Amino acid sequence: MKTIEEIRSLDAADPLADFRNRFELPDGVIYLDGNSLGVMPKSAPERMAQVVKTEWGQDLIRSWNRHDWIGYPRRLGAKIAPLIGARPDEVVVADSTSINIFKALSAALQLNPDRPVILSERGNFPTNVYMMQGLSAHSAGAIEHRLVDTSELESHFDNNVAALLITQAHYKTGYLHDMQAITAAAQAKGIVVIWDLCHSAGALEIDLHACNADMAVGCGYKYLHGGPGAPAFIFVAERHQNRIMPVLSGWLGHARPFDFSDDYVPAGGIDRFKCSSPSILGMAALECGLDIHAAADMAAVRTKSVALTELFIEQVEARVGEMGFRLASPRDPAIRGSQVSFHHENGYPVMQALIARGVIGDFRDPDILRFGFTPLYTSHEDVFRAAGILQSIMESGEWREPRFSVRAAVT
Ligand SMILES: *Cc1c(COP(=O)(O)O)cnc(C)c1O
Repeated sequence: MKTIEEIRSLDAADPLADFRNRFELPDGVIYLDGNSLGVMPKSAPERMAQVVKTEWGQDLIRSWNRHDWIGYPRRLGAKIAPLIGARPDEVVVADSTSINIFKALSAALQLNPDRPVILSERGNFPTNVYMMQGLSAHSAGAIEHRLVDTSELESHFDNNVAALLITQAHYKTGYLHDMQAITAAAQAKGIVVIWDLCHSAGALEIDLHACNADMAVGCGYKYLHGGPGAPAFIFVAERHQNRIMPVLSGWLGHARPFDFSDDYVPAGGIDRFKCSSPSILGMAALECGLDIHAAADMAAVRTKSVALTELFIEQVEARVGEMGFRLASPRDPAIRGSQVSFHHENGYPVMQALIARGVIGDFRDPDILRFGFTPLYTSHEDVFRAAGILQSIMESGEWREPRFSVRAAVT
């Protein structure tokens, strides 16, 4: 097993090490949950105070023009575009991921009007599945939502399927799909492919253009550090944009919202995928996270992510491998996102005991301890120390304290 000196030399050689200083890392905490809620950028409080005190407090309604609030969705979309291999005019920041999933699914059904099926994986993130169910129920049975096992996905690619909704990195296991291969196989059957990038945008290199993606959605509050409930993004390939008549035809997607006309006329291009007034405070916070990313080389981010997850697996297996932990993530880093999950029959109390000791991951039913690794602020030493604390909790048995088995509303 590596020594602490070896671990520290890895951190000393880390080309991304300086990014850590741009985040507010609480004392006494090793934060391994950036895949659920990213750490706050240090620039956020001041930027938020400026927006609150000046833009909102003093300039009020004038800020829509004076501070270009109205342009925020496109401005931030353009900052996300290089992270996902899109062009600036193909991404807009708007609404939430769930809402954007609905927009993308309803758009895909328009692009494939003769096909009744929307397809996804069993065990996909719940909101993705629930949005499919809602759309299907709304169609009074005309649209079938079909969930199949991952291994069977491709056998369901046929000309009844309008859309495939697929998450690049699985939220529980971190299993990473091959975007290029799946997109090509589905498109060969005329299926519109919608990628959910919630657990991958900001964590690894994504090239939507290289794989000819049709649409994508993603989250602002995970690896983009946008803050709790941050606005989400939607990508629509330029070739499709003007062929889609938005079902969620909100006024800000109108060609001329300030005509206040009775008739909806969609804006040209990606603007039609906006729906509601942008949440300006949320946008301002998200911009702080995106501005940090602008300086980060995504290839280096991925390289470090692989190193951190490999180190964690090695450390956990060496220290507590005989104590009931079983790797739930792929062992091959090429098909693993920036997280590591372990099964353990006492996963819930073990995670609560870890959190009490300042190692913050999370728990996912029925037995998964989930640890996210954010290369911009997680160090090799964090990983090493987290595994050491896990070993100490297991050896002392402190996780058996009854308070660690009390379930909270959010796990
Ligand atoms: C986090 C996440 C979401 C979040 O949806 P919200 O609308 O922001 O609550 C959706 N899909 C996946 C795959 C996620 O990981």
